[in-house]
Amino acid sequence: MDIQTAKREIMLAAAALRDAGLMFRGHHANLSARLSTDTMLMTRGGNVANLDEDSFAVIRTDGTVLEGEVMPAQAEIIQMHAAVYRAKESVGGIIHTHAPHATVFALAHEPIPVVYEPLMRFGMTEPAPVIAWAPRGSDASVNGIVEAVGAKPGIAAVLLANHGVLAFGKSPAETAQLLATLDEAAELILNARLIGGEKPLPREAFAQIEERKREFETTKA
Ligand SMILES: [Zn+2]
Repeated sequence: MDIQTAKREIMLAAAALRDAGLMFRGHHANLSARLSTDTMLMTRGGNVANLDEDSFAVIRTDGTVLEGEVMPAQAEIIQMHAAVYRAKESVGGIIHTHAPHATVFALAHEPIPVVYEPLMRFGMTEPAPVIAWAPRGSDASVNGIVEAVGAKPGIAAVLLANHGVLAFGKSPAETAQLLATLDEAAELILNARLIGGEKPLPREAFAQIEERKREFETTKA
């Protein structure tokens, strides 16, 4: 993705997250897009609710800042994004927020199960796992994320224990939609637990969704 497209997509994604209340009250988030195999564009800190052209840094996925000044608080989370790009080639966009319902699960150390069908459209067929708490951006935290991402291809988001959520998709736009859907799922599951709890999707649903996605893609092409 070229740098201008990446900036535009991230700005739109951030505005959508803000408007949907997914940055919670603190408007805390960091967003990135893959530029090439080994470079990414990331928000450089500060106010993510109102990003502009100057809100970004170009960073190599080994953590080296190539362009733009990254604020100290933001420097800690470079590896959180970079490691996911290194671990999963198909990832083109990453978003970290404290989305209000998904973060409830992070605080309770409870994975978000895939029981809300729309989640599967984003390729999420595995529960969003909880990564054990460690200081944000620390080796322990980053290793935990990489291990989870590497273990199962159906993981599209992880919960950072006692902290928030990290979601990753094909692009910043898709990842913003995924995050919105994940937070909807979390809210619905919490509500379902008031009336007997969520129920699993039938096992064949996962195969059927894959089949339908393929059909749709073939028709489109
Ligand atoms: Zn955070």
